[in-house]
Amino acid sequence: MKCKLNKGDFVQVIKGKDKGKTGRVIQVLPEESKILVEGINFVKRHSKPKAIDKQGGIVHMEKPLSISNVMFFCGKCRKPSRINSKVLNDGLKIRYCQKCNENIEVK
Ligand SMILES: [Zn+2]
Repeated sequence: MKCKLNKGDFVQVIKGKDKGKTGRVIQVLPEESKILVEGINFVKRHSKPKAIDKQGGIVHMEKPLSISNVMFFCGKCRKPSRINSKVLNDGLKIRYCQKCNENIEVK
């Protein structure tokens, strides 16, 4: 499966404990077929005391989840959708929403 998601895209979780949640892609890990999404798949981790955080304790951080567990979430149709892409005459590749044809811009 080819991943068309980029860093900064909005995705919705379609499987697992965070199903239905949306978040912004922090990082795509194509070699592992995993994706890191802001606010999704939080895990508690015990941290050692550091200079900035003298107390140490429990921190919450995102763990990468399988790319197949998320779907692109279109900001225009407010629905999970598929990404289509096409190459324009000048060679520029653009991605767009399969449902509403809105171009997907990564900000
Ligand atoms: Zn759309």
